[in-house]
Parts: sequence; C-alpha cells; structure tokens
Amino acid sequence: MSVEEIFAQIARGEGDADVVYESEQVVAFRDINPQAPVHVLVIPRRQIQTLEELTPEDGDLLGEMFTAAREVARREGIAQSGYRTVFNCGPDGGQEVYHLHLHVIGGRPLKWPPG
Ligand code: IMP
Repeated sequence: MSVEEIFAQIARGEGDADVVYESEQVVAFRDINPQAPVHVLVIPRRQIQTLEELTPEDGDLLGEMFTAAREVARREGIAQSGYRTVFNCGPDGGQEVYHLHLHVIGGRPLKWPPG
C-alpha cells in the first residue's frame, strides 16, 4: 500500500494512526518519523495532493488546518514555547507524500533556515 493510500485511510478514520485531534474536515496524527519531540501532521479528509491544487474556495479548509495546528500545539503543551507549521510543496519543497499535510513541529528550539 502506498503512503498516499495510508493517509487516505487515516483521513477516512480507518487507518492505524496516533490521532491527536480531528474535526469535520481534518485529522491530525503523529508523524511516524518525528523530527522533534512534537511532530504532528494535519491532513484534510478530502483527497488533495498538494498546496498547488487548492483554489480560492478552499480558504475555509486552510483555516481549519491552521486552527487544528494551533489546537494540537495547545494540547501538546507547546503553544507558549513556540512551534513551526510547514507545507512542503513539490519536489524542490521536499514533499514526499502527495496527500496534502501541514507539519506541526516543536518541543525544542528549531533552526532557521531549513536545509
Ligand atoms: P513530506 O516530506 O512533507 O511529504 O512529509 C511526509 C511525512 O510523512 C514525513 O515526515 C514522514 O515521516 C511521514 N510519514 C510517512 N509515512 C507515515 C505514516 O504511515 N504515518 C505517519 N507519518 C508518516
């Protein structure tokens, strides 16, 4: 099974994931290969491959993804210390899984710029 199929299963509420938050349009679950003490992915339930696929009508969905990221940060206890939200987009952006996902990373000081 491809990772995209795994994400699609999680999006339908059927997959094997450590879910930390969910709402009507999104699911947030722990990354299998965490890059920091907190590393959660927020995905839409709808199948969307990349940020480039979104249209102006998807503003509500984007808002819900960022609201979910903030709620994850609050639940994980990093809202005050700080965290990073990242969409990797396309090959040069480092995107490996083509089901849209917003990384929520924190729990340690993060370096900038990324590699
Ligand atoms: P990308 O490079 O932005 O596409 O990030 C894909 C992320 O998905 C990486 O951080 C992977 O560790 C993560 N990942 C891959 N497979 C799984 C899985 O089955 N469960 C949870 N996270 C996964």
